[in-house]
Amino acid sequence: MGPAPIQFAVRPPRPLLPAMARGFRGRCPNCGEGRLFGAFLKVVDRCPVCGTELFHHRADDAPPYFVILIVGHIVVPLALLVETEFSPPYGVHAALWGPLTVVLSLGLLQPVKGAIVAWQWAQYMHGFDPDHADEDDPPATSGGARAS
Ligand SMILES: [Zn+2]
Repeated sequence: MGPAPIQFAVRPPRPLLPAMARGFRGRCPNCGEGRLFGAFLKVVDRCPVCGTELFHHRADDAPPYFVILIVGHIVVPLALLVETEFSPPYGVHAALWGPLTVVLSLGLLQPVKGAIVAWQWAQYMHGFDPDHADEDDPPATSGGARAS
């Protein structure tokens, strides 16, 4: 008789790319209908349509990290291309790349955060994992010490 088989929790699959596409569009990763954000970067606690708990996310500083990565890979090659092809005065560079960087960064921050929250949801990360849901507190509704 061999060792006892390891038991794995059976969970419904959550297809990653459709979930991330919904998050990128600012929609609930589960239903694709409810709004994911209550403010610019404030994720709602629960989907207003399907009730999926969304406060479990731990996006932290991943969204700005990926936004810097993406924007850098757009703006730097463009700046190098414009310089090598046209050699414009430095004022033209300043007028182009500063504002483009700001606009792209602000424009991508919410979609990238939505995709990351959806990624965490689809992969059952953090409190999205029912086996570890007690690691997360629900959003605080009042002050006070945590009961243990
Ligand atoms: Zn939903």
